[in-house]
Amino acid sequence: MSPPLSVDEALAHILDGVEPTPVERVAIEAAHRRTLAEPLAALLTQPPFDASAMDGYAVRAADVAGLPATLALIGIAAAGHPFAGSVEAGEAVRIFTGAPLPAGADAVVIQENAVAEPTGSAGTTVIVREGVPDLDNVRPTGFDFRAGEVLLGPARRLGPRELSLAAAMGHSSLPVRRRPRVAIISTGDELLLPGSRPGPGQIISSNHLGVAALAQSAGAQAHFVGIARDTRESLEEHFAQADGAEVIVTIGGASVGDHDLVGPVLRARGMVLSFWKIAMRPGKPLMFGRLGTARVLGLPGNPVSSLVCARVFLVPLLRALLGEPAHDARPLEARAGVALEPNGPRQHYMRATTAAGGDGLPVVIPVRSQDSSLLAPLAQADCLLIRPPHAPIAPEGALVPILPLDF
Ligand code: AMP
Ligand code: MG
Repeated sequence: MSPPLSVDEALAHILDGVEPTPVERVAIEAAHRRTLAEPLAALLTQPPFDASAMDGYAVRAADVAGLPATLALIGIAAAGHPFAGSVEAGEAVRIFTGAPLPAGADAVVIQENAVAEPTGSAGTTVIVREGVPDLDNVRPTGFDFRAGEVLLGPARRLGPRELSLAAAMGHSSLPVRRRPRVAIISTGDELLLPGSRPGPGQIISSNHLGVAALAQSAGAQAHFVGIARDTRESLEEHFAQADGAEVIVTIGGASVGDHDLVGPVLRARGMVLSFWKIAMRPGKPLMFGRLGTARVLGLPGNPVSSLVCARVFLVPLLRALLGEPAHDARPLEARAGVALEPNGPRQHYMRATTAAGGDGLPVVIPVRSQDSSLLAPLAQADCLLIRPPHAPIAPEGALVPILPLDF
């Protein structure tokens, strides 16, 4: 029998030939956390006019070259209310932040450096007492960007900054990747839905919630099909409801026990098995195959194993389906906060916590128990500390790879 695949080999199989999902347009209000499918060019120039950055007076710079200078105040320009006339020699316009600089003016004197004095019915005079008009007081046309400039590349995840920018660029809808559809099926005669009162031998199905949340954070549309019993009929029924998903995720029932029917039932449906065992801890019985155009990921039932395997394999798969670059899913570097034991033949994903380190790298410490059935220590962890196969002892302070659990 061939040795189990390494994590990297398994991931290469899972990602092999992935095509991004089709493009769809969504209203910009609904685009948060979606992935841009095409490069986005500005439809507008920002700012569209030379705008005042301060409250003060729009003047001709030459008029205030010598101070104090006395100017006739001829009008007001406020945000949304441009001054229609033009500023001639010896004149000034009261101006507020965001207002267009009136024609003829080429500088703004901040209000702290000037005083306006009424001169009776003839109008008002402005005396500029100090300071020179500073170019920073005017935001020139196109200071931020110009129409036609491509400011957001494809595969960009749309967060608060990207959405504000896209809106300012003039977009009201955006081309994004359709969310990959993930169908999730729990399997096991012992499992109950959350909120049920367990009878003898029963437990709550917890993993499907964590896996669904992880899939959603990665940008997918997660659909929980339900809990399949450990019978062929029940599994068949549940798989029939997973039609149309790009990814089918099963939880449990995928090792070689008598009750482990997930593999056989899927193969009977036509799944082409790629592998069902990998050199990884936790998560040795991980199954992967293809059923038509769907990719099937059979996660182990143990709560920690299922979430760790989903983090290591499902998240990169979903990112690939969204057309996002693979390197976004790569591990980060940290320093071991304690000495780490040598590792065995399977790549170990230790549940661990990070704290700020002196040299800018996080310091990582494994949580107290690494048992793959324990959810409480997993909830204390914020990352997975990766120990490659046969890694020697890592002294305190050694550089080690980590995979953040929150992203
Ligand atoms: P299995 O892979 O089906 O042999 O399951 C391994 C262990 O994980 C067993 O103790 C199961 O009861 C448990 N388990 C399986 N599925 C779930 C689930 N959805 N939520 C919580 N525990 C589960
Ligand atoms: Mg089971």
